[in-house]
Amino acid sequence: MEAAAAWAVSTPLRSRAQREAAAAHATQLLPSLRERGVRQVAITFVNHAGSALAKAVPLRRLPLVASDGVGFSPVADAFGPTGLVDPLQSLACPDGDLRLVPAMESLRLLDGPAGWAWVAGERYECDGAPYAADQRLFARRWQDNLAAQDLQVQAGFEIDWMVAPPEAAAGAWSAAVAGGPYGADRLVAGLDYLNALAEALDAAGLDWLQLHPEYGDGQFELSLAPAPPLAAADQLVVARLLIQRVTQRFGWLCSFSPVVTADRVGNGGHLHLSVCRGGLPLLSGGQGVAGLSDAGEALLAGLLHELPALLPLACALEISYQRLIPSRWAAPFQVWGVENREAALRLIPAGLLEGEPAHLELKVADLSANPYLLVGAVLAVIDTALRQPRPLPPPVVGDPEHAAAGGGQAPLLPQSLEQAGAAFAASALQQQAMGKPLHRTVLEARQAEVRRAAGLVEAERIASTRLCPSP
Ligand code: GLU
Ligand code: MG
Repeated sequence: MEAAAAWAVSTPLRSRAQREAAAAHATQLLPSLRERGVRQVAITFVNHAGSALAKAVPLRRLPLVASDGVGFSPVADAFGPTGLVDPLQSLACPDGDLRLVPAMESLRLLDGPAGWAWVAGERYECDGAPYAADQRLFARRWQDNLAAQDLQVQAGFEIDWMVAPPEAAAGAWSAAVAGGPYGADRLVAGLDYLNALAEALDAAGLDWLQLHPEYGDGQFELSLAPAPPLAAADQLVVARLLIQRVTQRFGWLCSFSPVVTADRVGNGGHLHLSVCRGGLPLLSGGQGVAGLSDAGEALLAGLLHELPALLPLACALEISYQRLIPSRWAAPFQVWGVENREAALRLIPAGLLEGEPAHLELKVADLSANPYLLVGAVLAVIDTALRQPRPLPPPVVGDPEHAAAGGGQAPLLPQSLEQAGAAFAASALQQQAMGKPLHRTVLEARQAEVRRAAGLVEAERIASTRLCPSP
């Protein structure tokens, strides 16, 4: 923790030399981008509510923008998932401005034929100081912090979504593609769609592992390849934009919401993680339970302990908690297990294929999460877990509903955003890891979401965020 605090204090303003280097980098990229037909670049950041917000610039301005950024009001983090601003948040205020600066290493094609590229942004104060409540800077700080301790983390998101015909926007949700759960019939029915999506992913240079029909009606899943955590979060953002773009071309709607229809499986946004120290894996090859090393056990124990406080970052909507019920593979239990799909933390042993390390799946997460906040907070937990090891409880075998001593139910995670928010508010670890401005304003955003949903009956709650978070 000390190292992170020191980073926050010592991180200097973006210097003139840094700004000039960013501009030079952008200038170098111009010819190849022009060659690929790019004329506009969209710069996004993901706000506290998990929505990606954008500004676009003409390609010729990219060097200047890489140096100086574009203006973006800090009020954007007070936009709720439906876009409304709850006035009780401290950021619900018309004053001030920030500079949204493209992180040039994240640049990818969004739609080449239409002339668009995409790049992730980070926000700075107008004097060049890092903005204390910026989500991507938070994740970067923790990635740098762990790298400085010779810890190598790889992360990858799984994206679930459902497609529907356009009339579903008005009310009754239905599937745009027929076919059964994981059905090859759905794969065939949606073959042109999946082709178009694979082409868009490949054109953007996004490495993906799997693309297939999922359990729910009209549901698909895309697994992104492992990458350093910041890149993994960037990839989630751009992959959802690509899915949305391709879906629109087919005249359909897509929902990434954790609950699309009451009483049916929802959409997850599972986060996979593997961790090495000095190049050696912590989650396999050890003498501990399930082949974990001592450090691997400590890592799992720390994550398990901190899960309730991580939950408002992993599941940011009120409706998220309606997904977290047993037997939907949404893993609502505060337990870990080896290949257990109902455990919030699933350990996946090393694969038979060389280079496939053991890894962890945070199954409880859904796509309302701001991926930068989630990976940043998870990295901070890993840091503390390794510094202050706690004992790891035994893994759960079988259904956690009957796994406790005497056949009782294993402990459930918080059952509402309000309960999860209270755990986040009370977490000294999260307060220190995020710093006050970020921790306080994220908490305010979750409290605003609790208030927004409080006035709605279940059907209204589901409908109000069915097309949120906007990708
Ligand atoms: N759709 C399930 C969820 O809500 C996940 C299914 C799976 O990939 O295991 O998380
Ligand atoms: Mg899935």
